[in-house]
Amino acid sequence: MSLIDEQLARLAREHEERSEKRETERRTAVAPQAEVAGVISVSPEREQELAPSMATFADVKSAFAAFDFENGSIASFMELLLLSGVRLRASDIHMEPQEVSVLMRLRIDGIMNDAGAVPMPYYKMLSSRIKLLSRMKLNADKPQDGRFSVRTESAQIEVRVSSVPAQYGETLVMRLLNPAALQTDIGSLGLRQDDFAIVMRELSVPNGMILNTGPTGSGKTTTLYSFLKKVAQPGNKVVTIEDPIEYAVAGIEQTQVDEDKGYSFATGLRAIVRQDPDIILVGEIRDAETAGIGMQAALTGHQVFSTVHANDAAGAIPRLMDMGVQKETIGPAINLIMGQRLVRRLCDACKKPAQVDAELVLKIKQYLEMLPARVSREGLSAEGLYEPVGCAACDGAGYRGRIAIFELFPVNADAEKIIAAGAGAGDLYAFAVARGMVTMQQDGVLKALHGITTVAEIEAATGPIAF
Ligand SMILES: [Zn+2]
Repeated sequence: MSLIDEQLARLAREHEERSEKRETERRTAVAPQAEVAGVISVSPEREQELAPSMATFADVKSAFAAFDFENGSIASFMELLLLSGVRLRASDIHMEPQEVSVLMRLRIDGIMNDAGAVPMPYYKMLSSRIKLLSRMKLNADKPQDGRFSVRTESAQIEVRVSSVPAQYGETLVMRLLNPAALQTDIGSLGLRQDDFAIVMRELSVPNGMILNTGPTGSGKTTTLYSFLKKVAQPGNKVVTIEDPIEYAVAGIEQTQVDEDKGYSFATGLRAIVRQDPDIILVGEIRDAETAGIGMQAALTGHQVFSTVHANDAAGAIPRLMDMGVQKETIGPAINLIMGQRLVRRLCDACKKPAQVDAELVLKIKQYLEMLPARVSREGLSAEGLYEPVGCAACDGAGYRGRIAIFELFPVNADAEKIIAAGAGAGDLYAFAVARGMVTMQQDGVLKALHGITTVAEIEAATGPIAF
């Protein structure tokens, strides 16, 4: 064998080893499919039979109170419970054991509503049934997670179940994943026109990171999915790593974190990046390793979308530094940081104009003057403020559905400098505002002045307003 042949053979061997290694990495990158969980099918006849018991929240309350556990089956109570939740647009159903009975509470538009109580012995049967269906252990003194789906003629609703041992028994929460959240289009998120333009500009940059901040349940993921749908093209490779995968999106490769199988955000993301996708969605950044890999990907030609638990857009930066991310990396890697909250929408059928005194009118005028020039003042006045009333259409709440309020902090060259200089949350916030950020609270006030929501809702989400 000549020297050249030997070299060729070695190269071929090395190439083969590399391909094998890549193949193993590829296999690990594709996370194991979540086990197929149980399904409850509700027949159209049964749905029709239940319809009068779930038309309004009051109907549901009386149906719960009248339910005959002695003679009725637990299965039929469960159908009533689940379909009521779906019908009343509940995001989750909470079962909270007390001394002798268990409180059933529905969270609707972010607010908890007591729907009734189930006697303890029947709750034991109900919770066993839910746990069996969700492939959870019946007797466990540890918190557990599971899932199942409800199939009706018109929809399939995924239900995520979690259990936590509590003083009087297990607390169960069933989260109902609303498929409509997936259909949210970028144009219907609730971004003002001027903010929408900023988002579209940042989405057109083919590399860099867009981070969304806010607490659990603030709609961060829905927003990022709408971005994904906007930028995903047939010629692009889009991969996600999520915990858990909430909605299956057609045409997108989705993987799920599975710590037990060694597929964490960090290891999964590392494997995904090696496959050189164009766009990556990382469900959440909560450790330095994931942050580091994500930012490296953003710096090397990938578009990365992710979320961070922080109070507001500016707060994401100190949060990343606390995790151990180098402050010099943050600015260059991130293009845009967003903050968002959900507030309730006024019910259009019953809202009424609010009484506003002269003093507040003056203050609102001054407040509007302080906003950046890009914000349209068209049609804005104190006369646009409305109050909730309550009617049949909104089940007496005065509100129906929710809308997001946003703030956008584009990370440009100036911002990079002050981040690299180690500015704290307060300085970053002041910097962002000085450079034209309209805060979540200001966005909320603008939405209140358009009669979409109320000042009270904005204060509940963002704190007292200093008019
Ligand atoms: Zn109403």
